[in-house]
Amino acid sequence: KKQITRLPTWLKTPIPDNSNYKKIKKDLRGLNLHTVCEEARCPNISDCWGGSDKAAATATIMLMGDTCTRGCRFCSVKTLKTPQPLDPHEPEHTAEALSRWGLGYVVLTSVDRDDLVDGGARHFTETIMKIKQKKPDMLVEALTSDYAGNLDMVAMVANSGLDVYAHNVETVEELTPMVRDRRATFRQSLDVLAAAKQAKPGLITKTSIMLGLGETEEQLWAALKELRKVDVDVVTFGQYMRPTKRHMKVEEYVHPDTFELWRQRALDLGFLYCASGPLVRSSYKAGEAFIENVLK
Ligand code: SF4
Ligand code: SF4
Repeated sequence: KKQITRLPTWLKTPIPDNSNYKKIKKDLRGLNLHTVCEEARCPNISDCWGGSDKAAATATIMLMGDTCTRGCRFCSVKTLKTPQPLDPHEPEHTAEALSRWGLGYVVLTSVDRDDLVDGGARHFTETIMKIKQKKPDMLVEALTSDYAGNLDMVAMVANSGLDVYAHNVETVEELTPMVRDRRATFRQSLDVLAAAKQAKPGLITKTSIMLGLGETEEQLWAALKELRKVDVDVVTFGQYMRPTKRHMKVEEYVHPDTFELWRQRALDLGFLYCASGPLVRSSYKAGEAFIENVLK
């Protein structure tokens, strides 16, 4: 097979330069928050942090450390069996810092912590509750682990007062064993999304799929239908980008027109909204999308 070496033009991104972005960046200094946006050098940072409507400004915060107990083949986060213990002050500190930062929408995510009895669900829940106490109008999305199938933990997070429950299936069912850590299965992820909805009917649920890993059209259709069966409201599609040579290779750079086609198909299947594009990440402009599609 031919090796793909050069990036297509649509994956090149401009340097961020808008004023809201600059202000939010400046205000971040000294708050001691770990944003995925900055640490992963996300190309969307000016779209997410900037924009005209301040209420829609979105950032993603990483909780529970930088070391994961799992090793997915697309992910560059480091792996250990027993990462550092949790910082018990993190929920309070995070909520305090967020209440002083000019965001409207925060996505909280974390590594997977299979070493903890509750997978970190209590820590996550506490963080959300504290944010809502300190800044009730902040919209909160939690992008969680599958809690190794412990659906009571999913229910606890779903009832924490959050606005969107996100859990990523990452890819189609057939490719899951090649792409994700062996402890993660497509069915278990569907159960997580179903459990979140059941625990709190009306809660918006969300998932994300990377394209370009070798999935077929049929497989993608099937995945979307399964997600609709458990009432998932939102789906996002983005291009898989290989973090290093040790990670899975990109099978295809999917054309922007194809992303748009899948966005339309998702809407036709009944998803409430869908962000889809080569540079889209699951949190891409999530605040703006939520305000436009749920609040209005
Ligand atoms: Fe941050 Fe997600 Fe937006 Fe990237 S897509 S800038 S990680 S909120
Ligand atoms: Fe990366 Fe999440 Fe997989 Fe851990 S569980 S390796 S953080 S994708």
